[in-house]
Amino acid sequence: MDIINLLPENIANQIAAGEVIQRPASAVKELLENAIDAGATEIDLIVTDAGKSLVQVIDNGKGMSETDARMSFERHATSKIKNIDDLFRIRTMGFRGEALASIAGVARVELKTKRKEDTIGTFIEIENSVVKNQKPVAAQEGTNLAMKNLFFNVPARRNFLKSNTSELRHIIEEFTRVALAFPNIQFTLNSNGQEIYHLDQGSLKQRIIKLLGSQFESKLVSVKEETEYLNIIGFVGKPETARKTRGDQYIFVNNRFIRSAYLNHAVVNAFNEMLPKDSFPMYVLFIEIDPSHIDINVHPTKQEIKFEDEKIIYAFVNSAIRHALAQFSVTPALDFELDASVQQQEAITNPFTTEKKISAMNSGLYQTFTKSNQAHFIESRSNLEGYSPDKVFPENNLSQPLKEQFPEPELKKVFTPGENFVQLLQTYILTESDGKILIIHQQHAHERVLYEQMASALNGNPVAVQRSLFPETIELSAADSILLKELLPDLFLLGFQIEPFGTNSFIIQGKPADIPGEEQKSSLEKLLEDCKHFNTSLNYSNRENLIRAMATQRSVKAGTALKEKEMKDLVTQLFQCKVISVSPSGKPVFLEFRNEELEKMFGR
Ligand code: ADP
Ligand code: MG
Repeated sequence: MDIINLLPENIANQIAAGEVIQRPASAVKELLENAIDAGATEIDLIVTDAGKSLVQVIDNGKGMSETDARMSFERHATSKIKNIDDLFRIRTMGFRGEALASIAGVARVELKTKRKEDTIGTFIEIENSVVKNQKPVAAQEGTNLAMKNLFFNVPARRNFLKSNTSELRHIIEEFTRVALAFPNIQFTLNSNGQEIYHLDQGSLKQRIIKLLGSQFESKLVSVKEETEYLNIIGFVGKPETARKTRGDQYIFVNNRFIRSAYLNHAVVNAFNEMLPKDSFPMYVLFIEIDPSHIDINVHPTKQEIKFEDEKIIYAFVNSAIRHALAQFSVTPALDFELDASVQQQEAITNPFTTEKKISAMNSGLYQTFTKSNQAHFIESRSNLEGYSPDKVFPENNLSQPLKEQFPEPELKKVFTPGENFVQLLQTYILTESDGKILIIHQQHAHERVLYEQMASALNGNPVAVQRSLFPETIELSAADSILLKELLPDLFLLGFQIEPFGTNSFIIQGKPADIPGEEQKSSLEKLLEDCKHFNTSLNYSNRENLIRAMATQRSVKAGTALKEKEMKDLVTQLFQCKVISVSPSGKPVFLEFRNEELEKMFGR
């Protein structure tokens, strides 16, 4: 019996669509790029439920004829390339002819479009790759495409989507990238009926300040170098605007956002020792190069790029930035001072009165905190019952890469701390317990202890908040502030009292007692950065990422001298943990030698 059959077209489409449309933000990117390719000067993006219910893009571009409108949803339907050589000359954003076909395969789509030369427009409704309705309609010049109920027909993918805050953050990231690259186009972004951005046509500088924050006003250094081979233009932030989070770093090649650790290094390296340790400069840079010298086709979502000669590009970018920084004689300003304008804001100069406190508690935001706390509370409780050591708060039950790497720790053994503690190499604690010799790695042990304390804080034993004597404001990019907003309720349980203040600013009102005041801001920035780092590498929930990051950050590091009492406390706390033999990131906490083993080794 023969067993091979051809997949029905709609299923083939759904599978192929998975490469192009992974989440609402992927549709946002594709639709915005189509509008740009169509020559639009005004583009509106409307989303509801973080794009899960609706992603709509309205443009005033050139529109489509009736036949093109229908054709545009076919796989490999594109007006942008005709043969393989065109690939090496591509100047438009899209070219694979896959986006609309993919979207139509995994959502309900409504398209309204009209060209300038036509008196009447076309309306098409497609569901599951099947045309449900097509008719002439009165329409504005341009294209209006609505994607509804993403993945309604692929529940497995729908379940894979993250929380609305996290999906919205992805959308804002895509929107930011596109809007930065086209300051001469007017953009708006509306989410659940609220306008998040209204970006008028203007200069790149104005666009950067509008998108990334007014803290960059008068803090931008212009970069501009032109050669026969390539050009670079854009801005870097002065060193004092550098942050602990790697948020605002954008490189575009021929107006296409790309990720490149290599070019990132070229930029950061040019700042040299002007930057405080562990901080990242802001930059928005545009490289223009003849498309025949690059291959943008190496990655399906087109964010990676191959240059004909990477070394030339590196050297060029690096020297362009050095040159710009030197020309503007940027002097290092290593302290992070508050802007005078911020310091004078009422919320900072006035004490936090009871009246204000009450009004804050009645605000919608506070309400959502408390509500979502409860939701988390229930969620994490039930998770702890089926206790899994490396993953207290999984976002979904996907594979657990770390657990595969490291064997499941043995069922909890009981250890009783001994009386003698010796520190060796300022890293290892040598001690005995129940007839065994233990060599404990102090940092791994402390990470484990902190991790479990924080997990317990999130489960209803909150850490006490200490009011900051000097509340500080922290300015973030839109994407980072969405992440922070999502973390606020958990951060509160962990001892950070942070309040939103304006769109992308926050005030740190309180902090855990053991964090020194002068470190509250940088420690928060570092936390955000680490959370994002964990976020991209592993599939953990935000709160899991948060406590992992915090445990690592606050742990006593290898190379720190400990007093005997400190060692004893640490070991006692470790032995009270639910899991004692592995750190939260899966590394061994101690080595154990039984007396019989040692006797054997000594030939006794
Ligand atoms: P690609 O952009 O790679 O060509 P898409 O599936 O995104 O593939 O779009 C298919 C075609 O539909 C495009 O080549 C273009 O001709 C047309 N099209 C898509 N969106 C628009 C739009 N907003 N305005 C005008 N034409 C569009
Ligand atoms: Mg396209």
